[in-house]
Amino acid sequence: MPEVKVANLSKRFGDNAVLRDITFTIADGEFFTLLGPSGCGKSTTLACIAGLERPTGGTVAVGDTTFAGAGTFVPPEGRNLGMVFQSYALWPHMTVAQNLAMPLKIRKVDRREQDTLITEALAKVGLAEYRDRYPHQLSGGQQQRVALARALVYSPSVLLLDEPLSNLDAKLRDQARAWLKRLQTELGITTVYVTHDQDEALALSDRIAVMSKGDMVQIGTPQEIYETPATAEVAAFVGRCN
Ligand code: ADP
Ligand code: MG
Repeated sequence: MPEVKVANLSKRFGDNAVLRDITFTIADGEFFTLLGPSGCGKSTTLACIAGLERPTGGTVAVGDTTFAGAGTFVPPEGRNLGMVFQSYALWPHMTVAQNLAMPLKIRKVDRREQDTLITEALAKVGLAEYRDRYPHQLSGGQQQRVALARALVYSPSVLLLDEPLSNLDAKLRDQARAWLKRLQTELGITTVYVTHDQDEALALSDRIAVMSKGDMVQIGTPQEIYETPATAEVAAFVGRCN
């Protein structure tokens, strides 16, 4: 699994500078979380890694490949990254298996191979028995796992998760959190996780990057962020005001 390198990333929408000089490197297999209040630029950062937004400045690289920067821009389908967003966005008129087949068809994987990959991905998320169900026949937590299986089915090099648990109620979210962490550790897949929930970030992450109004404020382990917040704002946000 490759490193993810984001260097001096900036993004403007018109006159609005929503990201300023964002720099971080994510190690192979690391669970790395972008944490901060709503509107601070987390999703835009993730979208720049995914290729859904084009940076105004700076570079994005995965392994030895530069995806964005210095005149280069690789579109999302050329990046082989797995993505899950807040709304799971399963296709409601397709079964679980058909939902998972979609990214494989786009990649022109042959039929028999598709079937094997779908079976394996559903087994990873514990939903092997659910391949012929429709999304409305699943609980919110199960739908979220299908979305994750769909992101994993083509063996992406990096997993990008934008508030994937925020549509779940509190009890389901705790279960999903534990389950997600276990799966990420098992797969050893480099993960960029976005949340505004400090408890979630502290519980899941190897390292946390705290963002505020388009700036990167602090990067550290959960313990470092919690015990030695770099600013009063970080202290207030992670819940320790000293
Ligand atoms: P977060 O995910 O931390 O809540 P976002 O990255 O979604 O924050 O948004 C950061 C800022 O960029 C916000 O002020 C938002 O309104 C603005 N923004 C995001 N996407 C767009 C867009 N496509 N066009 C204009 N402004 C945008
Ligand atoms: Mg967001």
